[in-house]
Amino acid sequence: MGGWASLFGAVSNRLPNYVTQGAVATYFRVSAIRDVGFRGTHSIQTVQSGQTMQVRVLPALSDNYMYLLVDQNTKEAAVVDPVDPEAVLKAVKEEGVKLTTILTTHHHWDHAGGNKGLLEKAVGLTVLGGDSRIDGVTRMVVDGDVASLGGLNIKCLATPCHTTGHICYYVTDAQTDEKIVFTGDTLFLGGCGRFFEGTAEQMYTALVEKLGALPSATKVYCGHEYSLQNLGFGSHVEPENQDIADKIQWCRTKRELTPAEPTIPSSIGEEKRINPFMRVEEGTVQAHTKTTGGIETMRALRAEKDNFKQK
Ligand SMILES: [Zn+2]
Repeated sequence: MGGWASLFGAVSNRLPNYVTQGAVATYFRVSAIRDVGFRGTHSIQTVQSGQTMQVRVLPALSDNYMYLLVDQNTKEAAVVDPVDPEAVLKAVKEEGVKLTTILTTHHHWDHAGGNKGLLEKAVGLTVLGGDSRIDGVTRMVVDGDVASLGGLNIKCLATPCHTTGHICYYVTDAQTDEKIVFTGDTLFLGGCGRFFEGTAEQMYTALVEKLGALPSATKVYCGHEYSLQNLGFGSHVEPENQDIADKIQWCRTKRELTPAEPTIPSSIGEEKRINPFMRVEEGTVQAHTKTTGGIETMRALRAEKDNFKQK
């Protein structure tokens, strides 16, 4: 991180600016980059640096996030859902890292639509994906497959529902105990993706049984900035949930800054307190949907959210 201040000093009025994210950031230092050269977007870029992992949050389109993941020991980098190749290559250059890998969560254009363009400009990339509809895949992966990035371990978690070939990427470092997961359009901060190609049973498996089984401290990097909309729905489902109310206030302070800052990441432990779709076994959530059982509650919640209008 030492190089950041000098590298961005000329274009930054916010560095060094380490923002503590309360319980979310136990070991990640967070800093915001005021990059005046980056074209108009919904959020400022931020960098989260752990001992060996670094994640640079790259906003794209109207509310998407791409992520540049770096193993700081080897300077190898992977990019998650690089829909805007120019912005990715600019970040790679600024970081001085070697981009080797694309991690694609699913085939939707706003996630996979930049693969071809990036492959034209950066040769020799390994492209992971779990769906034949994803452009440029060099390695088709299935549930449980593993890959590596320098000294980091990447485990593929198949989470079919939003799309049949959706993959989440769980990244760990045996040396430092750092853990993060890239969840695409399966798990959002406070919400989940629509069930375009799947069922409530599948989303229950994805959220409660797979992602919910990851350690609480695992940081969650999702595909969109939908946090306030999702939390608004969450507080409608559980009006008495103080964790949701607190998170809404915290997110508002981030989003009301000019320029706005991302609300990403959350953590698995936090999602279990604020995300109704991960709380489908809770009595309060089942009372709201008037259903019993996690799967029926998941089905009812998603149907309600699909038609939910923020007051
Ligand atoms: Zn999608």
